[in-house]
Amino acid sequence: MLAVNGGKPVISEGTVAPWPYVTEEDREAVSNAIDKAVPWHWPMDPVTELEEAWAEFIGMPHVLAANSGTAALHMAISAAGVEPGDEVIVPSDTFLASASCVLQANAIPVFVDTDYETFNIDPAKVAEHITDRTRAIVAVDLNGLPADYAQLREIADRHGLTLIEDAAQSHGAFYQGKPAGALADMSGASLNGSKCLSALGEGGLFATWDADQHRLARRVLMFGEEIPHQGRDYNARIMGWNYRIDVLAAAFTRSQLRRLEHMSQVRQANGAALSKILSDLPGVRPPAVPDDRTHVYFFYPLLVQPEDLEIDDLPVESFRDAVEQAVKAEGLGIMRWQHQPVPAQTLFQEMRGYGRGCPWSCGHARPGHSYDPQRYPVASEICRRRLVLGQSFSSLGPPNDLQTMRAFADVFHKVLVEERDELITLARAQHARQG
Ligand SMILES: *Cc1c(COP(=O)(O)O)cnc(C)c1O
Repeated sequence: MLAVNGGKPVISEGTVAPWPYVTEEDREAVSNAIDKAVPWHWPMDPVTELEEAWAEFIGMPHVLAANSGTAALHMAISAAGVEPGDEVIVPSDTFLASASCVLQANAIPVFVDTDYETFNIDPAKVAEHITDRTRAIVAVDLNGLPADYAQLREIADRHGLTLIEDAAQSHGAFYQGKPAGALADMSGASLNGSKCLSALGEGGLFATWDADQHRLARRVLMFGEEIPHQGRDYNARIMGWNYRIDVLAAAFTRSQLRRLEHMSQVRQANGAALSKILSDLPGVRPPAVPDDRTHVYFFYPLLVQPEDLEIDDLPVESFRDAVEQAVKAEGLGIMRWQHQPVPAQTLFQEMRGYGRGCPWSCGHARPGHSYDPQRYPVASEICRRRLVLGQSFSSLGPPNDLQTMRAFADVFHKVLVEERDELITLARAQHARQG
């Protein structure tokens, strides 16, 4: 019997380890940072050490640690020379910050639909959105799978655009042998507690190949000031913010980074093992991984496919909600994540922005921008069918292992195969309730 109907859950409490995976080494690193951080100065050693270690890990020369991924992306947009009214291409299915970083520079996000196989921006649909105002493309390595950089690079070069990687979900992944974070002209990564490289709390990493972009991003990071090698003149050159990372977050992240390579290998192996089992189960589609890249499964996205079960009168939504409810009751964390493409969010539907409709109405933008959700049918379809495992609540990272993945798979086997009749009854009841 399904646990949602009173049966015994497949997974008992304590079986699945939460993310991040904290070791004695991490505790020592934070404790040492406390000892060395008084009095306050900038930058403190753990911050510089984190920046140098990330630069070495991804093989990119210039790195700045920031206090969030959102901040790191805003730094990248500004360092690309994006100005008010300029346009930046962004994917339609992602976390808000991939697009709101553009608004933070008073510029205009232009959304492009998604590829149904990779969940990433569809390179074939980018060119049609490029205008004489376009300055940059933000590609997101969604779920932990790098986007299609060979094609995106070609488009960016052809149109003279800066290519920016949002690597918030993909630390430790590879594309054609190159590490996530170093796949474009610049990158922004998040160190939010849930992410594959975690600060436990909050943090971010900006990276670039270019010394001038590095200087510009650093101004944005610290009050618009030029930070010379010694001393500080307290003279803001441009609009800047305080995006400095907390020293304890930096120390914790630096320590985690020593194990990132290993942790990524565990994630890859766990995801591959789970997909191998789930690909034989009707009712869900496991994520695809093209041959030229690796997946680190920040999220493990599943698309529900009630069509597999040959029940024609059941809406996808009711089936999805029943699967979510049943899987959760079996002790496995699962959720929908984004319910709709980003341009369908109220921010873009109402276009109030900073107030008075800025940046769309401030006079710098081309007139006529609008965000009709129907222009993103693939992203909408993914949002309609998607359920995700992963993140902190059903992590594919260590110490969870192949045995944990078998437990995950057992849940789906019970829900979709052994107790399918109960699941369908549950879905029909959902449907009746929703009308
Ligand atoms: C988490 C995330 C961000 C934002 O990072 P924060 O550190 O939370 O500000 C940006 N883009 C994507 C794709 C993310 O998943």
